[in-house]
This record gives sequence, C-alpha cells and structure tokens, in this order.
Amino acid sequence: MQTFFSLAQLADPQLQEADAILRTCVHCGFCTATCPTYVLLGDERDSPRGRIYLIKDMLENGRPASADEVPHLDRCLSCLSCMTTCPSGGHYMHLVDQARAHVEQTYRRPLAERAIRALLAAVLPYPERFRLALRAAGLGRPFAPLLAKVPPLKPLAAMLRLARAPAPKGDPAPQIHPANGPRRARVALLKGCAQPVLAPEIDAAAIRLLTRLGVEVVRVEGEACCGALVHHMGREEAALAFARANVDAWTAELEGEGLDAILVTASGCGTLLKDYGHLLRHDPDYAEKAGRVAALAHDITEFLVALDLQGDADEGPRVGAHTGRKVAYHAACSLQHGQKVKAPPLALLRAAGFSVFEPADSHLCCGSAGTYNLLQSELADALKARKVKSLEALGAEVVATGNIGCMTQIASGTRLPVVHTVELLDWATGGPMPARLPGGARTGEALPRPPVRARPPAG
Ligand code: SF4
Ligand code: SF4
Repeated sequence: MQTFFSLAQLADPQLQEADAILRTCVHCGFCTATCPTYVLLGDERDSPRGRIYLIKDMLENGRPASADEVPHLDRCLSCLSCMTTCPSGGHYMHLVDQARAHVEQTYRRPLAERAIRALLAAVLPYPERFRLALRAAGLGRPFAPLLAKVPPLKPLAAMLRLARAPAPKGDPAPQIHPANGPRRARVALLKGCAQPVLAPEIDAAAIRLLTRLGVEVVRVEGEACCGALVHHMGREEAALAFARANVDAWTAELEGEGLDAILVTASGCGTLLKDYGHLLRHDPDYAEKAGRVAALAHDITEFLVALDLQGDADEGPRVGAHTGRKVAYHAACSLQHGQKVKAPPLALLRAAGFSVFEPADSHLCCGSAGTYNLLQSELADALKARKVKSLEALGAEVVATGNIGCMTQIASGTRLPVVHTVELLDWATGGPMPARLPGGARTGEALPRPPVRARPPAG
C-alpha cells in the first residue's frame, strides 16, 4: 500500500512503524473472509482491510479520530484472525494498538461511554475491586433487562448478565510450590487479575500438574495485572505501568533464584506478555529487561508439550487410562492467532486420553475479547451464539479452552461444562475431576476419575 507520511512525521518512531506496517498491505482482501465482524456485518469498514484504510487516513493526515471511524475501530475484537490469514505478514496488532491509543488521546467519547470505560479500567485489573464489583453485580442483576433498553447503558446490562459470584477467597497461596521428586525446571506462574477471582481452580490445577511433572512453581511477589485489559482500551500509560511492575518483579526473581520460564494460563495475558519487549521498546530503562522477560513467557501448553506427560520407563506412565471423554476444544484467538499456539493443547489432550474435536469455523472468535463482550454486547452475543452452536454440534461432554475470557463467554451460552485445558490434563494425570464437570470436586460426589495405569512390571 502506498503511504504519504511526510519526512517530519517519519521522524516519529511510532509513525515510522505504522508506515512500515501499512506498506506491507497489498489490498488483497484475503483477511476479510476470516474477520468475524466482516462475516457478521458485511461492511468493508468493519473488515481488517477497511480498518487499515481508516487508520492510514487518520494517521497520515495527523488528525484526531472522528465519530465516523471510531465505531469501526471499536468493533474490532483484536482477535488477530486477520494476522493468521494475511499472506504479506502485516502486523495488524501493532497497527490497531496504535490506532486505539490515538483514539483515546484525540477523541472525546460521549459521557456514558467515558464513564463505563473508566469504571472498567479502574475495577477489572484489580482482584479485590473486581471481587467487590461481582458481589454488587449480584444485587443489580434484576435491573439488567431495564438497562439493556437504554443504548448508552447496554454495557452495564451486559456486565450484570455476565457477572458471576466470585470464588471464595482462599488462604494466600504459598509463594513456592516445590517439584515432586527431582526438579526439572523452575517457573513463575502469572497470577493475573480476573482469573483468580472467577476461577482459582485453573491455577490450582496448573500447579498440581506442573509440580507432579517435576517443575517448581513460583508465585512472584509484586506482580500486577498484565495490562491487556487497559491496553485494548487504548490506555497506553496504564498498560505500560502494569508492564513495568511485572518486568521489575520477574527480573528480581530471574536475578535471584532464576527462572526457566514465565507461564501463563490465560492466553489473553500471554499474548501481551510476549509483546512486552515491543511495548517497552522506547523506554531505555526497561527495553532490554522487557525483551528478556518476553522471551521467557510461554503459554502453559507450550511448556507442557516439552515435558512429556507420558513419563519415562523408570517412573512409569503418568497418564491415566483412556477416559473415553469426548472434548470439544475451543481455540482462544489470543492463543491460536495471537501466539500461534495451535497444536500443543490438542496434542496434550489427546496424549492424556481424551477424544478431542474442533468445531467448524474454529478460527472465528467467541466474542469474549477482553472487555469486548461488555462494550460491544450485541456483536459479542451473535458471535457467542454461533460458537456455541458449532461446539454443541460436536456432541461432546465438555468444552475445553485456554482462556478465562472464552470460558466465561461460552459458559454463559451453553449447558455444557466449560473448563480450562489444564484442568483436564491435571485430572488425567492424577488430580481431581474439574469442579465444573458433573460430579466434580465442588459437589463432593466425585465420579470415578480416570484410573492411573499401573507401572509396568520390571523386566
Ligand atoms: S483483529 Fe479480528 S475483528 Fe479485528 S480486523 Fe482483525 S480479524 Fe477483524
Ligand atoms: S490479507 Fe493482509 S495484505 Fe491482504 S488486505 Fe488483508 S492485511 Fe492487507
């Protein structure tokens, strides 16, 4: 794509980057076919190519964002399906991130929108505030249908509809979980912000699984939200502050006892962690440290495939007998498109004895996308309905995925239990049945869990 930035504009490293990304686009339009909003709306301005043109025009002319283009940018899920499809390798993520920051700095949203966005940014990244908000939402839920009738208040209605009672606040988890047996690796496991309030059982399963496989797990002090929630709202300074706090925390641990990896069980967070080097590239005090941290960040399934769930001849197999359970696997966009981690979760589930199936249109988003299901609830609901239909058509007993946002979104539209991939892997290797499965731990009436195969007789 031809661009017309002036030399003065190109002296700005941000615009220089935007220029380079824009120039990779050859207008082929392949990305439109895999863009969820274009599939739903059929409007070129709600496609990746259309948005690229809008962003180009806005940045090239150095003008504030306008009410004509902001809704089209807001409707983008940042699902990054377009990046998977693009034959030119265009880095749409960095372009739309820049556009969102530009919108935030130059466009004055209507009062209700500003208030709702400020509320989300002030609550979601902080677990204690989020916990209180969920309790309050329980009281406000009866008003959701009323609020849904007032267009500017639809996000509040969506919040009330999606809100679930927070998990009970447990004892503070120990900071170090030693490996069972000889230590094969030492990793930090990101605590995150919303996930521990909504589903602490995910990290509990991850810790059991990792320690069972000989990995020491550290919960690093001083960690904050990864910053993704505010980053996707264009609040760059807030996102950078979270990133710096995390880089400081992990660098101290790295330079102390050392870390082999920083693992993430919420793929939405993982995508941003892996991008910390880029996010902080213009900060001389953090650029190098952030690059180091980003290189260590992995989705937990990427790390697990290298560990061999099957065990070795000396220890005997770790995986239980084939469970016969049929699993519908939903690939979170942040995992399959943002991190290009597609095969590991499927391989692990199959290695653990599950029969795994993927839905039609598995590349399409479920509509969760951070705060998208709150801020763009109608589109998010349409995407959810489509995703739930294709998952239910598989006739599986359980849906597995690798992101808490997708879990919440899909679970709000189906009766099927929705669990995290690591909960199934933990179960298959000796852990408890996931609480969301019928008969899972919360009911106290556990169905027989997959029997652990006996160690083969010596010789
Ligand atoms: S990130 Fe997703 S919604 Fe946004 S333009 Fe790309 S494919 Fe479309
Ligand atoms: S697929 Fe890539 S090159 Fe083609 S229009 Fe989309 S962004 Fe541009």
